[in-house]
Amino acid sequence: MQQHSHFDAIVIGSGPGGESAAMGLAKQGARVAVIERYHNVGGGCTHWGTIPSKALRHAVSRIIEFNQNPLYNDNLRTITSSSFSHILRHAERVIEQQVRMRQSFYDRNGCQIFFGNASFIDANTLRVSSEGTSEILCAKNIVIATGSRPYHPVDVDFTHSRIYDSDTILKLEHKPSNIIIYGAGVIGCEYASIFRGLNVKVDLINTRSHLLAFLDQEVSKALSCHFSSNGVVVRYNEEFEKIEGTADSVIVHLKSGKKMKADCLLYANGRTGNTDDLGLENIGLKADSRGLLKVNSMCQTALSHICAVGDVIGYPSLASAAYDQGRIAAQVLICGEAKARLIKNIPTGIYTIPEISSVGQTEQQLTEDKIPYEVGCAQFKHLARAQIVGMDVGSLKILFHRENKQILGIHCFGERAAEIIHIGQAIMEQKGENNTIEYFVNTTFNYPTMAEAYRVAALNGLNRLFE
Ligand SMILES: Cc1cc2nc3c(=O)[nH]c(=O)nc-3n(C[C@H](O)[C@H](O)[C@H](O)COP(=O)(O)OP(=O)(O)OC[C@H]3O[C@@H](n4cnc5c(N)ncnc54)[C@H](O)[C@@H]3O)c2cc1C
Repeated sequence: MQQHSHFDAIVIGSGPGGESAAMGLAKQGARVAVIERYHNVGGGCTHWGTIPSKALRHAVSRIIEFNQNPLYNDNLRTITSSSFSHILRHAERVIEQQVRMRQSFYDRNGCQIFFGNASFIDANTLRVSSEGTSEILCAKNIVIATGSRPYHPVDVDFTHSRIYDSDTILKLEHKPSNIIIYGAGVIGCEYASIFRGLNVKVDLINTRSHLLAFLDQEVSKALSCHFSSNGVVVRYNEEFEKIEGTADSVIVHLKSGKKMKADCLLYANGRTGNTDDLGLENIGLKADSRGLLKVNSMCQTALSHICAVGDVIGYPSLASAAYDQGRIAAQVLICGEAKARLIKNIPTGIYTIPEISSVGQTEQQLTEDKIPYEVGCAQFKHLARAQIVGMDVGSLKILFHRENKQILGIHCFGERAAEIIHIGQAIMEQKGENNTIEYFVNTTFNYPTMAEAYRVAALNGLNRLFE
């Protein structure tokens, strides 16, 4: 009979959700096993998602800055030779650093890592399979943090050498002169910026009528304008009829009758939860049609000793939220209840070039809910710091209640938006009367800073008020 190893808790997956759950459990004294099927810890976040895409983006935005700034180049010495695979090597360095650091967290906290594929035998027992061998692990508590993968429609041939998804694009070795990106969600838009920044012609196919329709409309429009003025061609309300790979290109036939051809295609339309090989049928749990598990507000599945966190439970499908969910799961499994909850207003960070970030409600939502709001806006081109660094595209918009002046939403488009948003978020989350737009005019900002946009926007908004 195969030997069973016993633990207090087992975590499946070592992405942000799994890591945070494992750390939370270990810090509360639990003996923790982590099962990871990739040969390194870090999850999709470190190896195929957040980290490589952000490292690529950073390198590309510096190349753009160099090419646009006459101080660094004289229009004769622009950087044109950098290819995707060349800058990817920079991303690999960051991935290695991340893996080393994350592995040390597990080591320091005494979590035992098993490399292999996990599947349930029963509600307290898992099989870890790896290259023909298997081990059996048992635990009182289990956390499923298996993440998600790119959705593959059956009629697209992902084995074709020119058809990529957001994982395989990281293996792109040739230098395309043009690319079709199918799907204009966050990943599609971010990669559109990256490729355009490398001087690759980009056709972005959006199945919807707006870019990133969940954003405040003004920000969504700003991104559309920025894309079109920088040569990204966006097609709206389109769906593919057929995607055809040839020897050295890809042809997309759209249902509208249009045909497009490019050196390669990035398919970035949807994701699927990694639940299909978990053996959920052995424990009576069932994922939905997108492979997602249902949980309560404390991340417990229908079996209270089994939590699920991160992408495998769907919205918001962000590394940022997965860290919080892991912490909540660890609390409920050890204490029977979790005091922490996922916050209501989760900030959005979209790393296009320039960035987008927002928190709270949009103008559309406030109008629909008939909330009397006012708008305060600051254009980056009017800020000294933006002028100095030559990053003057963008704006900050604060939405606030006309009567009590409480901040209702903040929307930022421009360099460092994902950082800038947190200043406003910190004030917006304050209780009582401390979360009003007046904070920004009653405080002193370092000068010159991008943060000063808050003061400018607040003055702009307050000036619109009348009795
Ligand atoms: C291109 C891209 C860019 C992104 N950018 C951002 C961003 O800027 N900001 C942000 O917050 N989020 C971003 N995300 C989303 C973010 O990466 C995910 O939300 C996050 O990785 C989810 O964490 P997780 O722990 O749920 O899963 P993952 O990070 O996917 O980790 C899951 C782990 O489980 C393992 N696993 C799966 N099944 C099994 C099994 N049966 N047995 C053992 N191990 C298993 C996998 O190998 C993997 O290592 C991005 C995603 C992509 C694809």
